[in-house]
Parts: sequence; structure tokens; C-alpha cells
Amino acid sequence: AKKEKPKPQGPQKVPGVDHIIAIASGKGGVGKSTVSANLACALAAMGRRVGLLDADVYGPSQPRMLGVSGRPASPDGKTILPLRNHGVTMMSMGLMTNEGQAVAWRGPMLMGALQQMLMQVQWGALDVLIIDLPPGTGDVQMTLAQKTEVDGSIVVSTPQDVALLDARKGIDMFRQMNVPLLGMIENMSTHICTNCGHEEHLFGHGGVAAEAAKLGVPLLAEIPLDLQIRLASDGGAPIVVSQPDSPQAQAFMKVAQAL
Ligand code: ADP
Repeated sequence: AKKEKPKPQGPQKVPGVDHIIAIASGKGGVGKSTVSANLACALAAMGRRVGLLDADVYGPSQPRMLGVSGRPASPDGKTILPLRNHGVTMMSMGLMTNEGQAVAWRGPMLMGALQQMLMQVQWGALDVLIIDLPPGTGDVQMTLAQKTEVDGSIVVSTPQDVALLDARKGIDMFRQMNVPLLGMIENMSTHICTNCGHEEHLFGHGGVAAEAAKLGVPLLAEIPLDLQIRLASDGGAPIVVSQPDSPQAQAFMKVAQAL
């Protein structure tokens, strides 16, 4: 009898990419993209070859945060050339759709788009590929974990209970799919008044630290709710690039050094 060629099974590696780290959150607006952009820029500043895939189909914000625009070229009609800024090779679902256009993709289309971003983009040789996931536990996360070898995930949450509850779902999903949780990042941890320097816990205090301790994973950073972080991201040069010596940037650098 003819022997059938063994079909590739289980998660595959992305050619040329050493490590894949997924940045996840339970809900939107907690700073997952801000963390992804700053970690990618921090790794680049350390001399690592780093890529950033913006897989947040519902709200792709990396083109703005990294200050890139324009449609990526595809000279051969098959592969896609990524864009590059701040030493980061990047590709975003947002660059494949028209700006302002609502994305109402169904599951199978999303999965196809993700596979295309991973396999057809000419990432080149990378030490680390950071993937900025959509919030929650949907098709993109499932497909990624099933089809691609993900080395670890980082969950971003605000200290608020509701964000934490949602984050737990994400943590559970990664555990079921055997993606190791590298740690958690508490974002919008405290607010420091720009006028008087008074520090306030707008979204509560200690929730993420307690959760990380319960899960036995490190709390990688506590990032304050800070005007400079927001302005830097909006301006297309994350705080790690625009104010590398600030304590906020140093907090991101510390996480990148531990990766
Ligand atoms: P997500 O990716 O989780 O939806 P974003 O990273 O896009 O969240 O952040 C949502 C908004 O909040 C953005 O405008 C971003 O600039 C801002 N933001 C995120 N983290 C901080 C922070 N630590 N301090 C100030 N603004 C922040």
C-alpha cells in the first residue's frame, strides 16, 4: 500500500522566527496595544530583531502607535512586505483594510487573515515576534494557539475587578491550549496628578498582583496611568522611544530584559 505523507500536526513554527510572545487582555481599552508597542520598541533598543504583528482586527492601533501608514507592498503578489519603524518590523490588519472601515469579518475569514499575516508576511529572521491580540477569547486566539507555536503569553489588565475577571478567562484559555503564561502586567496602576504629584489608585489597588500570586506567575510591571504614555503613543513614538530615560519607559525596558 502507498504510504501517505504525514500531515503536519499540531502547532507550527513561523519560518525564521525564534520566539512568539502573545500579548492578551480580557477586555479592550486596558492598554494591551500600548504594552505591545513599548515592549517591541524596548526589545529593538536592546538590539534584538523584533517583529510586531497587530492582530487586533477590531481595533488595530499599531500603525498609529508606531507611526507607520500606507498599504504594505506585495511585489510578487504572494508575499507581503512588512513596514518598519523604531527598529521594529511590523504588520497590522489595519493596514490591509481601509481606515475607518468597520471590520465585520466572520470566524473563518479572521483565521485566514491571521494565517496570512503569520505565513505570507516576509518577517525575515526575528529573535522575537510580539503578537498584539484582540481582547477576549475569540477565533483569533484559538487559531493562533492551535496552529502556531506560541512560546508564551503576557496578560495585561487594569486593577479593576471586571477587567480582572475577563483576564481570568483569557488565562484559562491559554492554559488549556498549553501556552505558558509568562506573567501579568498591571496597567493604569496608579494615577499621578500632573499638577501636584498626588498618587491615586483610580481603578483599585493590588488586584493584579494578587491574581498573579494566586496563579504563581510574576507581576512583570505596574504601569501608571500617565499622560506622557498616552501622548507618546498617539504621536507614533512610544514612550520607550520618545522618553527612554523616564521611569515609565524604564518599567517597560525591565519587562523586555526579562523576556
Ligand atoms: P487596548 O489595546 O487594550 O485596547 P490601548 O493600548 O489601545 O488598549 O489603550 C487604550 C487607550 O488608553 C489609548 O489611547 C492609550 O494611549 C491609552 N493608554 C493605555 N495605557 C495607558 C497608560 N498607562 N497611561 C495613559 N494612557 C494609556
